[in-house]
Amino acid sequence: MKCLVGIDDTDSSKGFCTTYLAFKVASQSSHANFRVFGYPRLVRLNPNIPFKTRGNAAVCLPLETEEVKETFESVCSIVERLSDVGNGANSGVVLLHDPRTVPFLRSVYLAALHGVVNKERVANQLRENGVPTFQLGNGMGLVGAAASVTFDESYDHTYELIAYRRRDFWGTPRRFDLTSVQAMDQRTSPDTFNNYDYHKERPLIAPHGPDPVFLGVRGSTPGTVLKAFQMLRYEEDLEGHMIYLTNQGTDAHLEHELELPLKAYSSGWLEGEIVSARPGPGGHQYIHLSSRGARVDCAVYEPTGDLNRSARLLISGDRVRIMGGVRRPSARHGKLVNAESIEVLSLARQRTMSNPLCQNCGLRLKSEGRAKGFECQRCGWRAREGTKRIRRIPRRLRAGLYLSSPRAHRHLTKPLIRYGREAADEVYPLIDGWLRSFIPVPELARSL
Ligand SMILES: [Zn+2]
Repeated sequence: MKCLVGIDDTDSSKGFCTTYLAFKVASQSSHANFRVFGYPRLVRLNPNIPFKTRGNAAVCLPLETEEVKETFESVCSIVERLSDVGNGANSGVVLLHDPRTVPFLRSVYLAALHGVVNKERVANQLRENGVPTFQLGNGMGLVGAAASVTFDESYDHTYELIAYRRRDFWGTPRRFDLTSVQAMDQRTSPDTFNNYDYHKERPLIAPHGPDPVFLGVRGSTPGTVLKAFQMLRYEEDLEGHMIYLTNQGTDAHLEHELELPLKAYSSGWLEGEIVSARPGPGGHQYIHLSSRGARVDCAVYEPTGDLNRSARLLISGDRVRIMGGVRRPSARHGKLVNAESIEVLSLARQRTMSNPLCQNCGLRLKSEGRAKGFECQRCGWRAREGTKRIRRIPRRLRAGLYLSSPRAHRHLTKPLIRYGREAADEVYPLIDGWLRSFIPVPELARSL
C-alpha cells in the first residue's frame, strides 16, 4: 500500500536537520518493511514567519509498505531519536494514504506558504479525518507535516541533491575545491542554479552552520543535479546523499496578493504607484506606495544588492508590483513590506528645472529668491521669474523585473534563470544514484 509521510520541525537553531532525518529513514528502507517509491519532497514554507528554524522546511516521504502501522511507528521512533526537542524542536509527523481524499490539506499547504497557520485548527481537522499523527514538544510541526503531503509535480518545482556529513565532521569547516564548483556551474547552468556568486567570489552550494548538510546542488531534473554533484571535488568522507523534489526556486510564497491592511508575517505581492522613494540609514531604500487607496510602507534592504541598487532609481509616479513579506511593526517603523523582488510596470517622466542662462555672457543665472527673478553674478543682467527651463532626464531604469542578488536569495526565491523555464507537470522515475548511504547497516542502526 502506498502512503505519504510528512515530517516537520525536528531541528533547532543548534543543529540537526529535518532533511537529514528523512535521509536516515530512506537509507534504512533497504532493510526495513517499506520502500521509497518516489522522490522525497523538500517543502519550504512561508519564510517570513518568526517561529521557524533555519530554512522552515518540511519533508514528505512517499513510502510503499504492507505494514502501514509498523512503518508509521518506526518512522516516529526515528523522529523521536533524531529530533532536537531539548533545543526547541516541535516535531510533527502525519501519514496519509491519498491526499486527494482529504481536501483541506491543499488549503493548509497554501496557507502555510503565505501566512501563519493555526496549529490547533489543523490538528482538529487531521483528527476529524482520521489521519494518524505523532508530535513532540508543542507539535507545531504538524502544520508543516500536513502541508508537505500535498506538494507534488503538479506545482512548479525543482530538484536538490543534498549531501550529508559524517557526525565527526559536524561543526568543522566544509572543504571543497572552488574551481570544481565554478566548472560545474559553467557546464550545467541553466539546468542548475545558485551554485556560485561571481560578484563576491563565493560558493552558494554550502551552508555555514553546524548542521549535517555538506552541500546542496539545485537544478531542474534529478539527472542534472546528480551529474553536477559528481563534477565536484571535496576533501571529506560523506555519509551519503539524497535527491529531493522541491518547491525551492519557484516563488511559491509570493503568488497571492497581500491583504490590506497588512497582516504581519504574510507573504505575497502588492501593486501601486510610488508616492515617494528615498534612501535611509544603512543604505536601505524606503518606498511609500499608494495601493488600492491605502498607503503602504516598503523597504528594500541594502543586503538585497542588485534589487536595492535598482530601487534607488525609482521615483514618485512609477507604477510597481512589489513582492515580499510583511515585517511586524518595530519601534522605528509600522508594518512594512520587505521587498524580495520588484516589477516596474510603468515609469513616470523625470524632469528637472534649471535657471535660465545670461543673454549677455552665457553664465547660468542665480535665483534671487522665490518669485524675485534671476540675476547674472558676472554682469548683473536680470531675468523675470517664470523663465526657468524644464528638462526631461532620461530614466536609468526600464520597465521589467528586478531581483535581489543571488546571495540574498531565500530557498523559495525564483532565480532569474528559471523565468520562462518553469517545470512541466512531469514525474521522473527514481534514477540510479538518487540515494547513497556509505554507512554500513549495523552502524546505521546504531546511528538512528
Ligand atoms: Zn552675464
